Amino acid sequence: MNPLPTLFLSHGSPMHAIESGAAGDVWAALAKALPKPSAVLMVTAHWETQLPMVSGNPQPSMIYDFGGFPEALSKIRYAAPGDPGLAARAQSLLKAAGITAGIDGCRGFDHGTWVPLLRLYPAADVPVVQLSVQPSTDPLHHLEVGRALAPLRDEGVLIVGSGHLTHNLRDWMASRRGGNHASNAPYAVEFQAWVKAHLDARDVDGLTRYRSEAPGAVRAHPTEEHFLPLFVAVGAAGRAAKATRVFDGFEGGALAMDAYRFD
Ligand code: ZN
Repeated sequence: MNPLPTLFLSHGSPMHAIESGAAGDVWAALAKALPKPSAVLMVTAHWETQLPMVSGNPQPSMIYDFGGFPEALSKIRYAAPGDPGLAARAQSLLKAAGITAGIDGCRGFDHGTWVPLLRLYPAADVPVVQLSVQPSTDPLHHLEVGRALAPLRDEGVLIVGSGHLTHNLRDWMASRRGGNHASNAPYAVEFQAWVKAHLDARDVDGLTRYRSEAPGAVRAHPTEEHFLPLFVAVGAAGRAAKATRVFDGFEGGALAMDAYRFD
């Protein structure tokens, strides 16, 4: 069996759980185009920890970690099982790479996980394990976490980074208030293009220096948690992997919705 590609998805607002939208349609098509995985390892921007944590709950509950959205969103269930065996395997791969990681036996599904999964695997018939991000570290650490987990791709596990290509919520809200959806923020467009150029060139080292080298980086990501899942996906795919952007677009003029697959 060929190793599975890895994915990076910009998960958008939780509303994608109700209205698929163009991005959600692409996520669904992506999953259909791939062999069905034995499990999904979801690297989620909405789980921030000091050390890498994997979820080991066999029957994860739902976490509605957002506010100000319609009540209907808080009634959605994503009933996929967890996979404690995969959690243990991921922990041991990380340990073998010298990375201390823990298993959280209680963790439920946050919306960075269940919103894209509702489109990827709507039948909820693929077990899901979540992996946290460590915003107190750096992109290189996340690249190494991805590298350590690369063998899972040969074991039928689909590694998905769930974050955002750009994620300035203040700019997003200002754009919504002003009703200015006509034009996308120039800094976000520039940042989006810089990332694509580096991924196309397989310049992984350059990418890890994004915060000091990419135009608009700090405004695109005032905090890093939504960008870090990308490095895990890139690290797991390997340096030679080819990046394909399968979706690009903006939500509210400030949130780039790019999705990539790495083969
Ligand atoms: Zn998010």
